[in-house]
Amino acid sequence: MVEIRDVTPRDGLQSERTVTPAERAALGVALADAGLRDIEVASFVSPKAVPSMAGADEVVRELGARATTRWWALVPNRRGVELARQTGIDALTLTISASDGYSQKNVNRSTDDALAGLTDIVAAAEGTELDAVVSCAFGSPFEDVTVGSVAAVVDRARSSGVHRVTLADTTGAATPRRVGLVLAAVRGEVGLHLHDTRGTALANALAGLDAGVTRFDTSVGGLGGSPFAPGAGGNLATEDLVLVLEDSGIDTGVDLDALIQIAEHLGDLVGHRVPGRTAAAGALPRFDTT
Ligand code: ZN
Repeated sequence: MVEIRDVTPRDGLQSERTVTPAERAALGVALADAGLRDIEVASFVSPKAVPSMAGADEVVRELGARATTRWWALVPNRRGVELARQTGIDALTLTISASDGYSQKNVNRSTDDALAGLTDIVAAAEGTELDAVVSCAFGSPFEDVTVGSVAAVVDRARSSGVHRVTLADTTGAATPRRVGLVLAAVRGEVGLHLHDTRGTALANALAGLDAGVTRFDTSVGGLGGSPFAPGAGGNLATEDLVLVLEDSGIDTGVDLDALIQIAEHLGDLVGHRVPGRTAAAGALPRFDTT
């Protein structure tokens, strides 16, 4: 079973023109109705730093609890954890960068300081599922990242008590070869958060799948990208991954046609066509083996 965490309402929209909290909540509902069980809907970062994510508490409160869906929110620090938990959020993501330069730009702290603060954040989460997303895990434009340095960050994150670790290709530096190298070095269970900056996202996902990865972050229409990563491309498109997995006989439980409709609606919301390829071309034609 492959777990797809759709990050459209958060990562997908954070660098776009502002979409209201009500529209972001409606998007979360549409994604859940399409069969997605893990959806990142909000970011509890300062609205001054990322204005498009303002009203995170409104988004989560509007969504309410849903038995078959886990709503995720990004939190930057202990205060973010407290704010997010007050809304009844199901699960939390927290970014730790494998690149010190990116960490300074993104959260104004060194990787070392961010790792040192993790134990405190785990304590504040009080058992709420917490995923440490290791950004720039396959390279960084700010300095050289090595396989060993990524593995060390993953080790320290794990030992701080987070429930899971996800490797993020924040600036689209991953290739299938790099994915294989990093996965071999970090061992154990990890998820992948891939960006299509250089057109390698789907190839990287398949390399991860071959190596045993069963968790992927995606965004409908391939929207997204960090406002702090220069030239960042969008996330791996949810519908592109669903299409390839389903064609390989891997059941995702996600309705591809519904995703394509959501991608169309997203184009209207953000005011431009989404970059996703399946969103533009539609579902696959039949191809029988006989
Ligand atoms: Zn992303």
